[in-house]
Amino acid sequence: MEDCLFCNIVAGKVPSKKVYEDEYVYAFLDIAPQAPFHAVVIPKRHIASADEINAENSIEVARVFEAIAKIARQEHLENGYRVVNNCGEDGGQTVQHMHFHLLARRNLAWPPG
Ligand code: AMP
Ligand code: ZN
Repeated sequence: MEDCLFCNIVAGKVPSKKVYEDEYVYAFLDIAPQAPFHAVVIPKRHIASADEINAENSIEVARVFEAIAKIARQEHLENGYRVVNNCGEDGGQTVQHMHFHLLARRNLAWPPG
């Protein structure tokens, strides 16, 4: 996906501050952090949104959440964290490559606005 920002970040064509990487997942610091720790965790494989998840590609979600647990240990997020997926227009999704926000190091309000 040549015109996808997050595919270009995975490919190293757009710079990012890497937090974690394995064969399937890449995580980097959000450019506009909403918490003292705010990473974006993505499957390297392009999936446009959570609404595109199906029986053939749902393994990518499991891989992302395995990575999130590792990042939480790596970053010492023992006090907790929040994982957010914005999906579609009403969900506030602005980048059309499925991603999960990992927010931590502040008390996060619930319910969100
Ligand atoms: P969403 O609004 O859920 O689609 O999330 C997209 C996120 O990507 C936002 O939190 C942006 O701040 C973040 N973002 C956009 N461009 C970059 C970039 N070049 N590097 C890091 N984060 C980015
Ligand atoms: Zn992409």
